Amino acid sequence: MTDTRDRAEVEREVFLAGMAAGLAAPVPLPLDAHMHTVRSPDANAMLEAYCVLAVERGLAELAITDHVDFDPTMPAYGFASFTDREREVREAAERWAPRGLAIRFGVEVTYERAYEEVIRGWLKRHPHDYVIGSVHISAVSPYKASNVASFVAGRSLPGIVAPYFDEVIGAARSGLFDTIGHMDFVKRYLMPHVLPADLAAAPELYEPVLAALIETGTALEVNASGLRQLPRETYPSAAIVARYRELGGRHVAVGSDAHRTEWFGYGLAEAYRHAASAGFTALTFRRGAGRVDVPITGSAR
Ligand SMILES: [Zn+2]
Ligand SMILES: [Zn+2]
Repeated sequence: MTDTRDRAEVEREVFLAGMAAGLAAPVPLPLDAHMHTVRSPDANAMLEAYCVLAVERGLAELAITDHVDFDPTMPAYGFASFTDREREVREAAERWAPRGLAIRFGVEVTYERAYEEVIRGWLKRHPHDYVIGSVHISAVSPYKASNVASFVAGRSLPGIVAPYFDEVIGAARSGLFDTIGHMDFVKRYLMPHVLPADLAAAPELYEPVLAALIETGTALEVNASGLRQLPRETYPSAAIVARYRELGGRHVAVGSDAHRTEWFGYGLAEAYRHAASAGFTALTFRRGAGRVDVPITGSAR
């Protein structure tokens, strides 16, 4: 994996293989709490197209969580205004409610410790129904394709994942977010230097992150996008979702993280199964005012 073109090509093959294996088979599910539209710089899906698919497939509720970045070097910095995003989502919610589809106004904020107070102030002034905090790979990240080989060389596994997990711990401890998105997204960028199996063999590296989630009551997201990306497993894996539950974690969320119409619902049923297998009977979500439980029902169990 030498550049992002290679990654995109390989991930396209992973996606198609997953389609053939039924990873996007239509399954009625109660909620997809993570998706992007054209209001995110890396997405090209129209909100309306998602709504059509949701009604077709019996997905009852969507949270639209376009990116908002505060680091000027990040792609979503200044990309879409709060006003435009909110208007579009609220208008779609009104149009689709009579057809039995609930649409919530969410956001996925890129967390960086350096911007924590800026984010705090902005979220206070810009209320959303649901807020995901995620750590992404910035222009100066050691995990960028141009940096990762030299960063990994000669480092131990704990040293390799520390910069990413430290930021995720910061995101959880900030108390700013309902849910932490794709908590081990770094495993996508570490391939092929570090494999998902290497991380699976060192679950103790996850425990400080899980502890931060549990102590702050922040929900853990089971993010299905890893199933169509190089790791071919959710962020985090089923084993980590189970460990979170064993350690006392009680709040889990599920999202497809779709960025394209063709990715709608991809892997979502698998992510639900991971939550159910770990012992969860409901997802934790927020619809503006307060937290709600969304029972995991039917074919997801
Ligand atoms: Zn993300
Ligand atoms: Zn996302």
